[in-house]
Amino acid sequence: MDITQIREQFPFLKEKVNGHDLIYLDNAASSQKPDRVIRRISRFLESEYANVHRGIHLLSERATDAYEDARRELAAFLNAPSPEEIIFTRGTTESVNLVANTWGRQHVKAGDTILLTEMEHHSNLLPWQHLAREVGAIIEYVPVLENGAALDLEAAKTLLAKRPKLFAFVHVPNTLGLENPVQELCWIAAKSGVTTFIDAAQSVGHQTINVQELGCDFLACSSHKMCGPSGIGALWGRKELLSAMPPFLYGGEMVDRAFYDKPAIFREPPARFEAGTPPILEAAGWAEALRFLKAVGLTEIQQHSIALANQAAEGLRSIEGLRIFGPEVRQSGIVAFSLEGVHAHDVAFFANERGLALRAGHHCAQPLMRKLGSPASSRASFYLYNTEEEVQAMIGILKETVAFFRG
Ligand code: PMP
Repeated sequence: MDITQIREQFPFLKEKVNGHDLIYLDNAASSQKPDRVIRRISRFLESEYANVHRGIHLLSERATDAYEDARRELAAFLNAPSPEEIIFTRGTTESVNLVANTWGRQHVKAGDTILLTEMEHHSNLLPWQHLAREVGAIIEYVPVLENGAALDLEAAKTLLAKRPKLFAFVHVPNTLGLENPVQELCWIAAKSGVTTFIDAAQSVGHQTINVQELGCDFLACSSHKMCGPSGIGALWGRKELLSAMPPFLYGGEMVDRAFYDKPAIFREPPARFEAGTPPILEAAGWAEALRFLKAVGLTEIQQHSIALANQAAEGLRSIEGLRIFGPEVRQSGIVAFSLEGVHAHDVAFFANERGLALRAGHHCAQPLMRKLGSPASSRASFYLYNTEEEVQAMIGILKETVAFFRG
């Protein structure tokens, strides 16, 4: 991977922040976009834009082609058996809500159990809690081990053996710097006949994902975390599951036949779950981002991000009173840490003064951070365009921060 050449393709990285070169280490929140994605979006607006699936005219055909091409591109990216199993949503959050409100309401009844883990993002926690409250179901959580080092696999096995209705869990959490053994978890769940839902917001676009190999039933992801535009994401689901699910949102495009006096007849997936005008422009941009990532190489991207995160962790360990969450050795490009005597918001503020974009707060995982005894922490997250020099600069800035606040 030629990082210099990759960086040249990201106009945003040339920005100055407070007079300093930007060091963007907030990739777990959202990624920057390469110029070929930016150009694709403007080209689409200049000469291909119209509503999809509706008009017979040329522009509508072009827009529909681009939209459906994105579906095919993502299906191939995930190695999904068919593009018809790809539902475009606004992102991971909406994908979880979609399944909770459709499959969930059909299958989860009073007294049933939904199994989650203690390391879920609010997106993969609150929709299930809401469903459980509405139908009278119970939620159980697979515990995390000391310091968030891993999921407690033995506990997962025991809880799965009790046959919950669903096991919804994160592939790569946004704070702990670990990767859950998804394939093994799906395999254990399948043996007990448990339906599986994977929150892959932090893994798709950061490593190779093959839904057939993983053996899951549903998987959700977001374009903006993988060099694509915001406002679009996807739900992948097994065809037989999607076909049996009722609609989520009702309106145009999702219906086959509508009447005044009898129930409408809905279309087959994916149309059934894409009511109204979809994110057309965003789909065109996302498809370009997927082509870009494939050309760079997902294995290389993953190795690069993990290597930087390990270098960062090593440098951070030299700072007294600094605690890193998660395993000793990084399994993803994420490093979250807390600094004794310095609030995470002060760290982020001080860093910003020097052009360094870090994340501070609870990272939308409040119960987890509470359990780890650190309601607020700082986070650096690395992606394909970050460099070793940026890691060193971050360590230097953090040392300055500590000197400033601890005196
Ligand atoms: N799950 C995880 C693990 C995430 O990191 C995020 C985004 N921070 C989400 C879900 C939600 O993604 P989105 O905001 O794109 O819906």
